[in-house]
Amino acid sequence: MTSKVATVDELRRRVRRWRKSGLSIGLVPTMGALHEGHASLIRRSAAECDRTIVSIFINPKQFGPREDLAKYPRQLAFDMRLCAEAGADVVFAPTADEVYPCGFSTYVEVEGLTRGLCGASRPGHFRGVATVCAKLFGMAQPDRAYFGLKDYQQLQVIKRMVRDLNMPVTIVDCPTVRLSDGLAMSSRNKYLTGYERKQATVLYRALVEARRLVQSEGVRNSCAIVRAMKRIISEAPASRVDYIEIVHPETLEPLRLVTGDAQIALAVFIGKTRLIDNMRVVATGVKPYA
Ligand code: AMP
Repeated sequence: MTSKVATVDELRRRVRRWRKSGLSIGLVPTMGALHEGHASLIRRSAAECDRTIVSIFINPKQFGPREDLAKYPRQLAFDMRLCAEAGADVVFAPTADEVYPCGFSTYVEVEGLTRGLCGASRPGHFRGVATVCAKLFGMAQPDRAYFGLKDYQQLQVIKRMVRDLNMPVTIVDCPTVRLSDGLAMSSRNKYLTGYERKQATVLYRALVEARRLVQSEGVRNSCAIVRAMKRIISEAPASRVDYIEIVHPETLEPLRLVTGDAQIALAVFIGKTRLIDNMRVVATGVKPYA
C-alpha cells in the first residue's frame, strides 16, 4: 500500500519509525506528471532500500517568471497509481506553503557548475533545485536519493551540494529512459503537438551523430561536432537551438577538443517547448585529428 503524506510532520513521524526499526530509506524527488523514466528510479530505490519515498512537488522556486509553472502538468491520481506499481511506500505531496512557509529566506547556491548550460538560460533555476533538494533531504532523511542522468547538470549540482555540505545521503544516478525513437521521456513531451513530437527526435539523432563522429570517425574538434549536430537539428522546422555544448563530465567546463570522456548536452526548443538531453562520449585511440 502506498500512502499519501502532505505534511512534513507526518513524513517525519514515518521516517522516525522506520529509522528506529533500522530500515534504510530511498528518496525519489519529482515534480509529478510521472512516466516510465520516473518509474525506473522508483523501482531502483525499492530494490535497493527497505522503504521508498517519492516526493511530488512542483517547486515554484526553480521556475523563472516566464516559464511554465502554471501550466506544468498535474495528475496526482495517475501518479499515485504509478508510484504504487513501481513499489513506493509513501508519496510525499506537500503544498507550496508547507515547503516554503511565510518568512522562508534560506537558499543553497552551488557556484561554478551552475554558470553554463541550463544555468545560463535559466537564471536562478539551480538555486531553486538545490534548495528544494536540500530541504527534501532534511525532511525525508534518506540514505540514498535517486536522480536521472536525463537532467545531467542537475545531477552534478546535487552531487556537489551533498559533498560540499556533508549531507549524509548517497546520490544514485539512473540511466535515461527513452521512447522507441530515442526521444528522452519527459513530462514536458506532453506539450508537443503530433507534428512537433515527430520533429523532437532530432535531439537524440544529433547526439547519436556526435557520438559516431567522436567514437567511429575520430573527430576531436568540438566546433566541428556541434556544427554537425546543428545541421541535424535544423532538419526540424519547428526547432530552435538554445545551446549545444561539449563539456567535461564533472566540472562542466567547455572542452575545445574531445580527448577522453566528454558530456554532450543540449537544449532545443521544439515549437514553444524546451527539451533537454545529453550523452556521454568517450574518445579513445591514438590517432585523433583536430
Ligand atoms: P522531474 O519530475 O522532471 O523533476 O524529474 C524527476 C527525476 O526523474 C529527476 O531526477 C529526473 O532526472 C528523472 N527523470 C526524468 N525523466 C527521466 C528519464 N527519461 N529517464 C530517467 N530519469 C528521468
